[in-house]
This record gives sequence, structure tokens and C-alpha cells, in this order.
Amino acid sequence: MNLVSKRAAVLLFFSLLLLIGLSIFSIRYFHKASTWIQHPANKHLFENGKLLSQGAIYDRRGNILVQINDGSINFNEDKTVRTALMHVTGDLGNNVETGALVAFRDKLSGWNIVNGLYSLDKRTISGKEISLTLDAGLCALAYNKLGNRQGAVGVYNYKTGEILCLASSPSFDPLNPPDVKGNPGKYEGVYINRFLSSAYTPGSVFKLVTAAAAIDNIDDNENKTYLCEGNLQIGKDAVTCMSSHGEVTLEQALANSCNCAFARIAIELGKGKLQEYANRAGFNSSLAIDGIKTAVGKVDLAEAKEIDLAWAGIGQYTNTANPLNFMAFMGAIAHNGMRVAPQIIQGGEELLFINTPKKERILSPQTAERLKQMMRNNTLSVYGEGNFKGLELCAKSGTAQVGGEKKPHAWFAGFLDREDFPLAFVVVVENSGSGVKFAAPIAASVLQQAINY
Ligand SMILES: [Zn+2]
Repeated sequence: MNLVSKRAAVLLFFSLLLLIGLSIFSIRYFHKASTWIQHPANKHLFENGKLLSQGAIYDRRGNILVQINDGSINFNEDKTVRTALMHVTGDLGNNVETGALVAFRDKLSGWNIVNGLYSLDKRTISGKEISLTLDAGLCALAYNKLGNRQGAVGVYNYKTGEILCLASSPSFDPLNPPDVKGNPGKYEGVYINRFLSSAYTPGSVFKLVTAAAAIDNIDDNENKTYLCEGNLQIGKDAVTCMSSHGEVTLEQALANSCNCAFARIAIELGKGKLQEYANRAGFNSSLAIDGIKTAVGKVDLAEAKEIDLAWAGIGQYTNTANPLNFMAFMGAIAHNGMRVAPQIIQGGEELLFINTPKKERILSPQTAERLKQMMRNNTLSVYGEGNFKGLELCAKSGTAQVGGEKKPHAWFAGFLDREDFPLAFVVVVENSGSGVKFAAPIAASVLQQAINY
């Protein structure tokens, strides 16, 4: 090889090395830049771990929820709004992982992958101003209705995916943080947004999943009846109802929340079918809300014996449900079986649905329609239309046993069958008692307010 060829080979080698290096950097840049830029050591953005730049988060009506001015953070002037929205905005100590001050740091700083921190057009500050889909007044009402009890409330538009109301209790005023460590009982899990990040035993609201499977898989399920004698013996164990419901159809079993009938239905369906419909309803997977991942509600029947399958079909056994995910399942029933992924940022599509398809068919239109009629019947025949005037409410209550001395979790979930207010909702009140008694009134107040705006 002559000298020229040797030099050419060396040059080629280094060129290749440069190319490989550039490729690796580019790939890492596109994947990690957002994380690099938000590192608190970045002096362009942070001073002592606090965001330096300007930025603001508004609710859907233009109310300021939180504003950053050269490192100082201001919240809404109303204490109730500040407290109700604390899990959404985050707190001054950045303890709330899903709060906007942590979760939407890059958006607040105005950073994007093309322009970095510096906007070419100084007139546009859209990257630094985030409008949420939430209605602060509705969130405050929901938080007040939870009172001193622990729990979560959510309402969203099942056609557009916009979350209008979100509340998680306990909370605190971010301007006057309490002594959380000194009051472990009162502030248990206070930094957790229970609506997004918790999973509870669902109890009877889960019967909607079992009912969906029954509609699709049990012959003549419209006319078939199940006998409830108040007690169903399965081996050495028994499933019980508060009283004997007699011969009930699927619709009557749902309205009366008959455990014995649903235990029979679950066994008739078998593990495979119940597991399939639980997965379809959103269990065992997480939704991503503008990049924030929700907790996973679980249904795992792999090791379930017959009695376990019976209890799983009525929402007990080892089942857990994430409130937001369950609300999206309610939305799918309302929306002809099509689940629209919930979102919290207005017009935030560019970041949305990285992990979640925007729309996903989880039930056939026929199955969704039948469930809707059954849930409407629940209101008309059991919950009382007078308690939900004008809402065209379709719902299911749940009273989830949690074992030990603790009172059950109260659930109430469903939707409005109204073209002008396509809203689905979920209410969970921890360790309170009956769903109809403790969760349904909160849903009624919040939904009435939602349609009065
Ligand atoms: Zn019964």
C-alpha cells in the first residue's frame, strides 16, 4: 500500500468514527435531551433547584393556578383552589411527582427539542404558558365535598378526553405546608395524587366488567336467570348477599348488586374470559396522561381457585382499580365502546398518546349500549332519579371490602347520557362505607355544578 492509500484509509477510519459518534449523540439527544435540560444543575434554568424562567399554568377559564417569576412561585389567591389543585400544580418542595412543577418542567421552561431554551420568535410564549383542561371551581367543589375523608374524584369529557375535574384528598395549602411527618395519620400519602397514582379494591363497580363479559359470552343472557338465596356455598367457603334476591336476570343482578348471581356468572365465564375483559377494561395496564403514567389496577386470575374467581367477579379477591383508568372505562361504555384517552393539557397533542392510543375500541357498540341501558336502569330503579335530576345518569355503586377492622371503600362511577354534557366520572371515598351513601352524593353535587356552568 502506498503512502496516499494509507493516509486515505486512516482518514476514512476517523471519518467513520466521527459518524458513529454523531449518530450515538443524535439518538441520545432525541431520547434524553428533555431530561438533560431539566437537570437542577443547569444554571440556565435553575438556581438552588428552583426554576428561574417565567412560566404559568392556567385552568380552562384562564384562572392562574401557579406562576413562576424569576424563581419565585405564586399560586392562586384562593386558599381552597390552591389546596384543591395542589396535586396538579405541585408544592414548593417538589414532593408531588405528578404535579406540573415537576412533570411539566420542560414545557414551563419553554424548552423544545428544536429551539432548545431560546425561542426564535420572542412574541410567542406559548411554551411557557400551559392551559389545563381542568376547571378550578369544579376541582375545589369536589375537594370540599370529600371533606376530611381520603379519596379521589374525577370527571372528564368522554368524547374529547378533557379532564374537567380532579381532586385528591388529603391535600394542603402549598403556601402553608403542614408538618406532614408530625401528622402521619392525617397526611397519609398526601403527596400522592390518588386519582392518578393509587389503586383501590373496586368492589361492585367491577361487576360492570363481569357484565360486559357475560353479555358477549353467555347464551341468552337477556332472559337467563340466576338464583340468589342470600348465600352461595363454594366448597368450604361462601359468597353472601345482604338478603336473598331470588331469581334475577343479569340486569336485576346488576341493579341489586347481587353477589351470588355475579359469583355464578364469573364461574360460568371462567378465568380466561374474565381476565380478557378485565384487560380490555384497562386493568393490568397504565394510561399516560400528557406523559404522566397512571398507577396500574390489577386483576390476576392465574392462581385463582373457584372461590377466588367468584370473588374476583364481584370486584374483590386481589383486584385493584386505578380511579382514572376506571373513569376511562366508564367513558368507553358511554361512547359506544370507544375509549378516548383522558388529557389534562389543552391542545397538548404533540406530547400526548406516546404510550396510549388516543382512541381505542374496548367494547363492541352493542355491548356498550346494553351496559348503558343497564346502568341507566340502576339509577331509575335503585339510586333514585330524583337524586340526579336532569343528569340522565348511568351509574354503578361499589362498597369494597378491604378486610380487617377497616370500613369499606365507597365507589360511585358512571356517566351522563347527554349529547351536550358527555361526562364520565368516578368517586372513591376511602374507608367510609356504602357507595350509594358516601360516594353518590359527591358525584351528584359535582355533576350538577358541571352542567350548570
Ligand atoms: Zn343476591
